[in-house]
Amino acid sequence: MLLERLSRLGGICSRVVLIADGHHPRAIDAAIRRGDLTRIRKGWVALENADSAAVAAIRAGGRLSCLSLLARSGVWVLHDDSIHLRTTAKRARLSADGMRVHRLVLPLAEAAVDTVPAAVACAVRCQSMFDAVATLDSVLNRGLMTRSQLLDALTPLPQRHRDLLTLTDGSAQSGLETKVRLGLRYRRVKVRSQVWIPGLGRVDLLVGDRLIIEVDGYQTHGTPAGFQEDRRRDREAASQGYIVLRFTYWDVCYDWERCLEAILDIVRRDGHRRSH
Ligand SMILES: [Zn+2]
Repeated sequence: MLLERLSRLGGICSRVVLIADGHHPRAIDAAIRRGDLTRIRKGWVALENADSAAVAAIRAGGRLSCLSLLARSGVWVLHDDSIHLRTTAKRARLSADGMRVHRLVLPLAEAAVDTVPAAVACAVRCQSMFDAVATLDSVLNRGLMTRSQLLDALTPLPQRHRDLLTLTDGSAQSGLETKVRLGLRYRRVKVRSQVWIPGLGRVDLLVGDRLIIEVDGYQTHGTPAGFQEDRRRDREAASQGYIVLRFTYWDVCYDWERCLEAILDIVRRDGHRRSH
C-alpha cells in the first residue's frame, strides 16, 4: 500500500503527506529499515527508481522547477543539462555541480516538484527573451495554462518579463517556430504563423506570399513517414511556385545569424513576393 502510493506520486513524497494519507510513521520507518524506501532528507522519502534530478532538488532544500520540470511536462525549453530547482531557503545545500537555483517570493508546495506556474516564472527569468517567449507559447499551445493564468504566474517578476506575453502566439507548434518568428519580426520582416496552403496543409511560417519556412524537430520529422511527407510537401510547394527553407534545431539555436541571412537575402530581392 505504502509503496504503491509512493509510486503513484512519482516515487518521492514527504512524510507529512504520507501520514496525512493514513500511513503510520512506524510503517514508514519499517520500510526505510527494510531498504524499500530511502530517507533523502529530513521529512522526505523516495523509492530507489525515483527521478534522480527531483531527488537532488529535494536534498538541496528545494523542488525541481524551471527548465528541468517544464521539459518533463513536454513544454519547449532550451535544452540544458543542469538541474534547475527553486528554493525558499537562504542557502541551498547543493550536492553537485550543474545545479541552478532559483528563488521566487512564493512558498514551496508540499508536492515533490514545483508547480507549473512557478516553474514557468522561473523559466521566463532563466532564459533569453526569445527562448522565454517560446516557452510561454508552448505552455499556451499545450493548454497547460491560459493567458490570464500566465499573467498571474508572472506577477512576482519585473514588468519587462510580463511584457513578453504581448509577443506570444499560442498557435506556434514548436519553440523553434517561435524563435524564428520573433527573430524575423525583430528585423521587421512580416511573417505569419501556421498558414494553411491548399495541397500543402499548414506551414510553420510564411513570409510574404511565397517564402515558406519550416522548422524541423526530430519528433515529427524524424520518422520515415514524416520524412516522406516532408518531401511530398516540398515537391508540391515547388510546383505551386513557393520557396521552402528548412531549418533544424541546431540552425535556429546555434547558427541563427546564418539562417537569418538566407531569409533576408530572399526578402531583399523581393523573392518572397509573387508579383515582383
Ligand atoms: Zn532555470
